Amino acid sequence: KVRVRFAPSPTGGLHLGGVRTVLFNYLFARHHGGEFVLRIEDTDQTRFVPGAEEYIMECLRWCGLEADEGPHKGGPYAPYRQSERKELYRRYAEQLVEAGHAYYAFDTPEELEAMREVEKAKGNYAPQYNQAVRGIMRNSLSLGAAEVKDLLEKGAPHVIRIRMPEQEEVRFTDMIRGEVSFQANTVDDKVLLKADGMPTYHLAVVVDDYLMKITHAFRGEEWLPSAPVHILLWKYLGWEADMPQWAHLPLILKPDGNGKLSKRDGDRLGFPVYAMNWTDPKTGELTKGFRENGFLPEAFVNMLAMLGWNDGSGQEIFSMEELIEKFSIGRVHKGGAKFDYEKAKWFNHQYILKTPDDKLAALFQPVLQEKGITADAAYVARIAGLVKERCHFVNEIWDHGFFFFAKPEKYDVDAVKPKWSAEKQAFFEAWMTVLEGLDDFSFAPVEESFKQLAAAKGIKPGELQLPFRIMLCGGKFGPPVFAIAETLGKKETIERMKLALA
Ligand code: GLU
Repeated sequence: KVRVRFAPSPTGGLHLGGVRTVLFNYLFARHHGGEFVLRIEDTDQTRFVPGAEEYIMECLRWCGLEADEGPHKGGPYAPYRQSERKELYRRYAEQLVEAGHAYYAFDTPEELEAMREVEKAKGNYAPQYNQAVRGIMRNSLSLGAAEVKDLLEKGAPHVIRIRMPEQEEVRFTDMIRGEVSFQANTVDDKVLLKADGMPTYHLAVVVDDYLMKITHAFRGEEWLPSAPVHILLWKYLGWEADMPQWAHLPLILKPDGNGKLSKRDGDRLGFPVYAMNWTDPKTGELTKGFRENGFLPEAFVNMLAMLGWNDGSGQEIFSMEELIEKFSIGRVHKGGAKFDYEKAKWFNHQYILKTPDDKLAALFQPVLQEKGITADAAYVARIAGLVKERCHFVNEIWDHGFFFFAKPEKYDVDAVKPKWSAEKQAFFEAWMTVLEGLDDFSFAPVEESFKQLAAAKGIKPGELQLPFRIMLCGGKFGPPVFAIAETLGKKETIERMKLALA
């Protein structure tokens, strides 16, 4: 049975790359009729940020990508928060020490720092704790057995480190990249268990993926360099046969393709990079989110699916059902995917067009409320239907339809004045009387009466439409003018004409 997991660390808001990882997990699980687990990787207490876990949950809910198991609803492998599983990890670390694949290290932060200084002075600018220095540091490989026993008995602070092999090629098959291989000695002896008894990510990810019976592990490409550590741990713990298949997902790149998209790019270029607004509790700094920027969750999710994946047919708009049916990890590109905000807006526009008018109206109501406007749901729905073709975002219904909610305060007089005449004034006076008598004030009869009277008065209808529009909206914008009149209704249309002609 397919089991996948999204395993975020609660360190802040969720970058769109993180949500894409959620999405690919979700699609893969649903495609294979499998299970999707949410696991909170909160073992690094120095990086823990209050509110981040709640944010992640809310984000999955907003996107409609909720997990089948997780801290929010439990499940057969609970608890799903690593901090609550703390006691579980030590025995695996000890097991590795006994087998000679890991060791105790007693070095103080000062000693580690001194080692790095010495190495840097030797011209090694990225000093590591590895076979080169292992022998001169204070650990159970370099100290005598009696001393180690003594230190442990005295409760001397210590960590457990993996002993990376001196000469070994570590290979595995990545579902996206194919065969991958590393020289084990290019990776340092990573800490597995910290002095506070908490596991590091390296140990916890392996233990939990094993215990939670994860079959496929998808994560960002930034984890590829530590993959050899994880592969070796699976082997050293004797679980190799159960190791999940790995897929390292390509990065999401800046619009110009130059490096990873960061939240700073969003600030600089004026677009959101997080799923939802995130306020850093320490600095108060706000990072803008797609949700608050007016994206519909379906559009956001569809856009994310296309960042690094396609079905090969050129199709770009996919419903969730279609994505589930068509998604395969094998079709995820190796290369990074450039993020294009204009394209993201295009996706949102497509979904605005697909959304029923009454639903758009409901989404737009908060914008009206904020402006202190109360309007009938059916009326707002008609307006949404008239202007949605021009909107990339729900709040733009206001930009393209504000005149439906209040009479014009000023008129674009310059647009009509040069060609204004007593004949035109007379036309509108007469037409108002005709309109008063109309029983059916919908588009066609209004237009018909307009054309008939224009013909009778010998004026080109084209010459009269613009003034009529300016009477109703104040300027040269908006949907077809007779649709505006129909929507405003007889009373309001005539009032606006009177006001403008006065
Ligand atoms: N906790 C890791 C992160 O925050 C998860 C990586 C993984 O999925 O294995 O990126």
